[in-house]
Parts: sequence; structure tokens; C-alpha cells
Amino acid sequence: MKELDKKKKELMHHLLNGGFLKTASIIMAFKEVPRQQFVLKGYEKYAYDDTPLPTINESTISQPSTVAAMLEYLEPKTGEKILEIGTGSGWQSCLLSRCVSDSGNVVTIEIDEAVAKFAIKNIKRMKIKNIKVVIGDGSVGYAPDAPYDKIIYTAAAPRISTEIISQLRLGGRIIAPVGNKFMQVLKIIDKVSENELSETEAGSFRFVPLKGKRGFD
Ligand code: SAH
Repeated sequence: MKELDKKKKELMHHLLNGGFLKTASIIMAFKEVPRQQFVLKGYEKYAYDDTPLPTINESTISQPSTVAAMLEYLEPKTGEKILEIGTGSGWQSCLLSRCVSDSGNVVTIEIDEAVAKFAIKNIKRMKIKNIKVVIGDGSVGYAPDAPYDKIIYTAAAPRISTEIISQLRLGGRIIAPVGNKFMQVLKIIDKVSENELSETEAGSFRFVPLKGKRGFD
């Protein structure tokens, strides 16, 4: 067996045994989308380590166990429309795309043009058609395609912006690391009614800070 295949198997084992991955569609997505295609040249051998890796500028490809946990909390379902804030390498966008299947779609917005171009190239290689990459400030969401069934922040936010809440459909869910630049709590926010949110918390994390109008700038 090739070394990377062996490492991928070990990572899957770790994510399953550690309780990070639970849902069949998310497990399938992790199997289908090869993380080594989303890292920079020279980093392929680390692609199946459970660590974030540097990509372009200050962007990173997120840690597998963190992405697994976030997707489990998000509960993406077949046919849903999901907004991802912070495309990064495009790896998580592809995982989301597989979770919602071809009848659903993913809109992902990236503020750094060079990073977005890297992601577009990576996503194209996967031959995945239901992902739209937008270059822009996702701290205010992306109104043209709203409302969304689910919204996921992949960068740390000081708070959830009102624009984002208004772009979420009734009954929809937001997953976001919220806190300061150095430490955040993962929040799970459900839009229970037009002016009522229910909020739970799921552990501490450290993400790249959100830029833009509702970010830390
Ligand atoms: N989950 C991704 C990693 C995302 S890292 C992966 O696995 O590859 C967070 C990304 O958010 C970075 O690429 C950063 O440039 C981007 N970002 C930061 N602020 C943003 C904003 N206001 N709008 C859109 N993207 C933003």
C-alpha cells in the first residue's frame, strides 16, 4: 500500500475512534475528497496528519478533526444550500459539496484573491460542479444567493454579524468560532423564529482571524 493511503487510513481510524466523525455522509465525504490535493507542493506527506497546514499568505488548510467536528455540528443534508465564509484551500468546500450531494450547493467566499485562485484550481481538479467561489468580504455574508440553509465560518469572528443572521433561512443553523483573535468558542446557532436564536457552545478552538467589515480589522 502506498504511504499516503496508509496514512489516510490511519487518520480515518483516528477521526472515527476519537468520535470526531459519526455521520455516514460526512465519513463518505472524508473518504472521497483527497486532502493531499489541497496542500502546497512539498506538504503532501503531511496531508493526513491531524494538523492544520500553511497554504498561501496567512491562510491555512484546517485541522481534520476540527473540520470533522464542525461538519458534524453543522449537520449538512442532501439538497441544502450552504454558505462557507473563508474558502482557504477549498478542501472543506469540497467536503460540504459531497455532504449536500449534487442536488445541493455550496457558496464559498474568500477575501484573499490569491487564496481564492488556489482554491478554484483545487476545486476544478476535483471536477465538482456545485461549488461557487466568490472573491469578497464574507464577514457580511453573500446576499445575492441568500437565504442559506446553513452558514459556516472557517475564520474566527468577534461576533456573528446581523447580515449573516438575516441571510439564514428560518430553521437554519450557523456554526462559528467566536471570541478574540487568540481563542474562540465554537458556537452553534439556530434561527428558531424571525427574531429568536438558540445558541449552544462546543469547545475552544483557535482559528485564523476574520478580516473585513465585521472582522478584526
Ligand atoms: N477551511 C479552510 C481553511 C480556511 S482558513 C480549509 O480547510 O482549507 C480561513 C480563511 O478565511 C482564510 O483563507 C482567510 O483568507 C479567509 N478569510 C478571512 N477573513 C475573511 C472574510 N472577511 N471573508 C472571506 N474570507 C475570509
